[in-house]
Amino acid sequence: MQNKIGMAVIGYGGMGSHHARNVRLKRPGKFDVIGTFDIREERQKASRAFGLTPYESREALLSDPKIELVVVATPNDVHKEIVIDALRHGKNVICEKPVTMTSADLEDMIAVANETGMLFTVHQNRRWDPDFRTVMAIRDSNTMGHIFHVESRVHGSRGIPSDWRNQKEHGGGMLLDWGIHLLDQMLQYAGERRLLRLYAQLTNVTNENCDDGFRVHCTFEGDTSYIVEVLTSNFISLPRWYVLGENGSAVVKDWTRRGKIIKVSDWENRECVPIRAGVGITKTMAPRNKSTIRRYRLPHPKCDWMEYYDNIHDVIRNGAAPFVTHDQQRRLIRLCEAIFESGETGKTVELE
Ligand code: NAD
Repeated sequence: MQNKIGMAVIGYGGMGSHHARNVRLKRPGKFDVIGTFDIREERQKASRAFGLTPYESREALLSDPKIELVVVATPNDVHKEIVIDALRHGKNVICEKPVTMTSADLEDMIAVANETGMLFTVHQNRRWDPDFRTVMAIRDSNTMGHIFHVESRVHGSRGIPSDWRNQKEHGGGMLLDWGIHLLDQMLQYAGERRLLRLYAQLTNVTNENCDDGFRVHCTFEGDTSYIVEVLTSNFISLPRWYVLGENGSAVVKDWTRRGKIIKVSDWENRECVPIRAGVGITKTMAPRNKSTIRRYRLPHPKCDWMEYYDNIHDVIRNGAAPFVTHDQQRRLIRLCEAIFESGETGKTVELE
């Protein structure tokens, strides 16, 4: 068996070409990006222009024994059908996020993966986002005391894109688009902690077909709350992350990791002079005396998204465990279902 894994992409649009380009340029020793299939002729041409083979049909691609790994990067509603077809053809499969739209569909896909023994995993690439890695490093450093609250948000001002993302039947909406990334990060952050309950609001500011944003408040065991917010009508954005620990606070402003950590250096020093606030006075909200706090730089741990593909190679060639597992996907899709339920009923949903 040769070391290189023959790879193909089904759905050669924005993300499909991102996979092909990056793997070809960054991991030429591990993967041979052979070809693609897309239902649009212009994308078939784009594939040829990039030096790939545009197969004439999905069947032709899946019947090629040189292809061992298929990346599915079509709109969300056809992931299930294509993943199952590829697994049944004996291919290993990376499916784009969201893996699919319901837990029932996910179970059907997992059943075929188990039956065929092929790899079936999902591209949760934002686990390698630098800003997220910084927050994980803050968590792991244990230097802010118990972290009791995290806020993770992305704000845009362009509404929802006008393609399939704007159509419910294709799995559109911001919860399944950006939300699924931020929620996957949240579950990675929480680890083994049970997610006890959540309350969510879905927004339809610019779009009636599907949600153009949402806000969810999650309560985890161990006195930890976590807000995830994705909004698309914000002409002023709030910071990407806000993290509160008993002895300090952190802000990560954006994807480039601008921000800071402020820690208390002298808790006992509570002396403060009341300040004027609005039309009143306050001691509680008075700024801290500078001698009682210290400012720190954010940690900048190394992060390389290509580790995802290194793991895929290791799974297929050496039987390693995949980074993104079936159980993680079960938890994530169940979480999305609970957010839709809470958004639609206006009620808190009890979970794990
Ligand atoms: P896109 O519209 O740019 O591309 C989708 C492509 O799939 C189109 O070229 C379309 O012609 C093709 N297609 C549709 N149905 C098909 C079928 N049955 N067989 C073959 N081809 C078909 O969309 P996109 O932005 O590339 O999104 C594709 C997938 O990637 C979605 O699931 C999306 O959620 C995901 N995505 C992931 C990330 C990430 O960071 N992980 C980013 C963007 C998109």
